[in-house]
Order: sequence, then structure tokens, then C-alpha cells
Amino acid sequence: MRTALTIAGSDSGGGAGIQADLKAFAAQGVYGMSVITAVTAQNTQEVRSVQNIDPSIIQDQIEAVFDDIQVDAVKIGMLSSPETVELVARKLQKYSPKNIVLDPVMVSKGGHHLLQADAISALMKKMISLATIVTPNIPEAEVLTGSKIHTEEDRMDACIAIQALGVKSVLLKGGHLNGEPNDLFYDGTDFHWIQGERIHTKNTHGTGCTLSSAIAANLAKGASLLEAIQISKQYITTAIRHSLDLGHGHGPTNHFF
Ligand code: PLP
Repeated sequence: MRTALTIAGSDSGGGAGIQADLKAFAAQGVYGMSVITAVTAQNTQEVRSVQNIDPSIIQDQIEAVFDDIQVDAVKIGMLSSPETVELVARKLQKYSPKNIVLDPVMVSKGGHHLLQADAISALMKKMISLATIVTPNIPEAEVLTGSKIHTEEDRMDACIAIQALGVKSVLLKGGHLNGEPNDLFYDGTDFHWIQGERIHTKNTHGTGCTLSSAIAANLAKGASLLEAIQISKQYITTAIRHSLDLGHGHGPTNHFF
């Protein structure tokens, strides 16, 4: 059985974070494991509060998994604090798993900060260079590059700038721009446009978590980066098409459509 580990935050509402990651792993037929970095009190409407997990407990969780179980891919989500970024980077350097998918989670759709402002430079200096692929959305890419992104050329420039931070490849997601949600994959040499389809629904909570986890799961199964992205893009599109109208805010995607 292939395995994937998510290092991320918990969403009590079950739509994003660890809960979305584990469902995406299961849907892709991979055995899922989790290291919880923060607990959020959250539903489809809002993040009410966040408790960062003590770094020593994060360290113990990472070591407990890696010391015993083969990890075929790691997905990294909410890291919350600079201490957590540095710790996770140090441990990943030590265990050096083959596939690391970094979703540079910064702000929730409702505007709640999931990465402290003073953790952004640690993320850029210590974490990005360890990743096989980083999967920013447009606002995250704007923070990482310090430049606004409007045109297709801006998107290519952003991929090149992010790749120059030391990551092997970049998937710049286009869902936050108007028009079709086409993503741009840059493998360090070539650009590939990954076509999307705009599905008009308010129930899109956890889409970024789900996509990055599906990519990690498919890398764990031995797919190439491009194959893993193509399979995962189709998966998230169908999961959004069948998204669940739960709660009164942004409902979750449906992992098992
Ligand atoms: N909560 C947690 C724990 C997350 O990791 C994320 C995103 O990665 C979110 C919330 C935000 O999800 P969304 O922006 O889809 O609402």
C-alpha cells in the first residue's frame, strides 16, 4: 500500500485542512497519515480561533511516523508559525522523503490568517527549497513574488520567480482570476497549461487542500508530476461539481462523488 503524510492544520468543520487531506488520500487509494500543526475552530462560515500545537509535539508526531512507516509522499499545508516552519523544514531535511507537495497556505477564504506574517520569510527561505512542487494560488504567488499578477505573462514570470527560490516545480492555480480556472505548471524548463472548467457554486471550501493532497497521493502511487497534476485537476473539478451544500457558508467539496 502506498502512503502519504499530511503536515497541516485541523478544520473542525471537516472541509479543509487535515480532514480534507485524509479524504483526498483515501479517495485516491493511498493510506493517509497526519501530523497536526494547529487546531482551528472552524465551520463553513468562519475560522473562530486557532491553537498552534506545541513544536515538541509536532516533532514527536513527525518522528513517530518516519521512524516506523515508509512515507511515499508528504503534503504540507497550514504551518501557522515561524517555529513550526523551521521545525518541519529541519525534519524533512533529515528524513528527505521523495515527494514533497507544498501548499503555501496563508489566508482562509474568509480572510483569517493561517500563516503568521513573520513566518512568510521562513517559508520562503527554509521550506520552499525542499519541495518537489509548490502550489500557490494567485494571492499567495503575489506574496511570494512581491508582484501583482494579471496577465498570462505575469503568471509565467511568477512561476519563474518562485522556482528561483529553489523549488523544483510550480503549479500556479488560476481559480482566483476571472474566466476559466486554468492552472500553469512550470517544471523548471517548460510551461504546461492545465485547463479547468468554472463551476458556479459557493461550496468551494478546502479546494486547495484537496488538490495538493491528490497530487501528493498520485506522486506516492508513482505518477510523474505532470500526470499527478492532470489526474488531480480532473479530480478536484469533479469534487467541486458534486460539492456538498452543508452549513450556511461555503460548503465542502465532495471527495467521494
Ligand atoms: N483551514 C485550514 C486548516 C486550512 O489548511 C485551510 C487551507 O489550506 C483553510 C482552512 C482554508 O480553506 P479555504 O480557503 O478553502 O476556506
